Amino acid sequence: MLKKRRKSNLSVLMVTSEAVPFAKSGGLADAVSALAQELDRSGHDVRILMPRYQGIRRDSLYRYPTPFSVRVGQEIYTTAVYEGRLGDSSVVVYFVDHEELYAREGIYGTSAGGYPDNLRRFSLLSHAAFAIGAFIGWEPEVLHAHDWPTAIVPVIAQRRAAIGAAKPATVLTIHNVGYQGTFPVGELPHSGLSWIDLSESQLLHYDSLNLLKAGIVNADMVTTVSPQYATEIRTPRRGFSLDKVLAARKENLVGILNGVDYDVWNPEKDPYLDAKYTPETVALKDRAKHTVQSELGLPITNEMPLIGMVSRLVDQKGFEELASPGFGALPDILESGETQVAILGSGEERYEYYLRTLAHRYRNLSVVIGFDERLAHLIEAASDFFLMPSRYEPCGLNQLYSLRYGTLPIVTKCGGFVDTVEPASARGGTGFFIEEACPSAISEAALAAVGMWHSEHGRIDTMRRAAMKLRFGWEKAAPSYVSVYERALAAVRS
Ligand code: ADP
Repeated sequence: MLKKRRKSNLSVLMVTSEAVPFAKSGGLADAVSALAQELDRSGHDVRILMPRYQGIRRDSLYRYPTPFSVRVGQEIYTTAVYEGRLGDSSVVVYFVDHEELYAREGIYGTSAGGYPDNLRRFSLLSHAAFAIGAFIGWEPEVLHAHDWPTAIVPVIAQRRAAIGAAKPATVLTIHNVGYQGTFPVGELPHSGLSWIDLSESQLLHYDSLNLLKAGIVNADMVTTVSPQYATEIRTPRRGFSLDKVLAARKENLVGILNGVDYDVWNPEKDPYLDAKYTPETVALKDRAKHTVQSELGLPITNEMPLIGMVSRLVDQKGFEELASPGFGALPDILESGETQVAILGSGEERYEYYLRTLAHRYRNLSVVIGFDERLAHLIEAASDFFLMPSRYEPCGLNQLYSLRYGTLPIVTKCGGFVDTVEPASARGGTGFFIEEACPSAISEAALAAVGMWHSEHGRIDTMRRAAMKLRFGWEKAAPSYVSVYERALAAVRS
């Protein structure tokens, strides 16, 4: 069995459906692992609990010899627990190994939709957070849940405390309030919660079970991934119907900006780049530009800028406004003839199809459908501008990578973008804002950036250098989480 180094300070169990490098569908997976490692470096005892999905190989993990039993309401699940480490850190990761529920290809579902038994799957994980302590002989002071899959952790903690169990402090982080974990009321028994929890002040929301809502109501502290988003989700426009619930927790809702792993996203040592570069040698970006132009079949030229995108092709990311037949902004941008556009992404079929159609029509557009880590790095380095016309953006990672690569973001005025990008002005700036996520505003902002590239290249250069010097590391975010844990612990003790 792997031995865990004994530490002082806080003990925290992250309960999560995703963590890199084991399972990732989006920014949540990056955030959980990076935060855990940063807290570990600061001396806290942080561990992770997650499912063992099919893709997580057992042969490099330690298997506990005894079966692990978890009661979820009337049902008792018998599973195995595996243990591994997060990279070369001392963060221990516990995997709940339930063949029937977790040994599948997807995390949440397939391209046809979510798995029909998701409530069972993630309720088991949430209840396992309470059973694992006695099993491994380690009781964390803080349980940190992430998004809807583990949002009932705070609810379970409250219910157990009501019948005399010790209560750990609970923290819920909302990475995206657009995904709430809603299920038909009849599925309640699968959650292991009782009919008493089925009230408007708890699980029930517009005639459905709503896991995220129940988590927000019951957590000692709630966080989200940028200060601006913490404000926005308390408004009807961005709260996805949970604005009032969130507003009621205003005093205990904190926005903490996600960080970037600069070991991975750094043009000075990026292994995918032939020519690494610094703010002083930013002109070397052109080498990456030529590589991308040549690999993606775009004309090789320095005479026009390149706008890059790496994204899930979904409504949230602004693709309806950018790439809908007869309506989107992209043809407008391309027909200016003044810029090239390179898009890497996968997602909704209608966007994949239409983007491919446009790429056939316009020589200055190249589209790659798929998930490609190397190309994502190359596009970051090669592009002059990075376009993110999101309808809403809790934090956003790509604009942070872009800044480090001297690639000026063109972003909607919302969420994490507001906290991280400074609009171009006489004083400088690091990017460009799209006033509203609508086609005319998208093309206006993109063409303004392109115009500046053609007519005021010196200004673009100054902005690039300023952007490259900014840092959004986890060493800034982690102490804010420690403060949140301490507030949650104080709330439990009071
Ligand atoms: P979200 O988590 O909402 O998708 P973020 O900007 O916070 O958006 O994070 C997205 C992450 O996924 C980034 O690291 C981005 O580079 C990566 N990514 C998205 N689509 C692709 C793709 N097609 N190929 C490679 N990486 C991708």
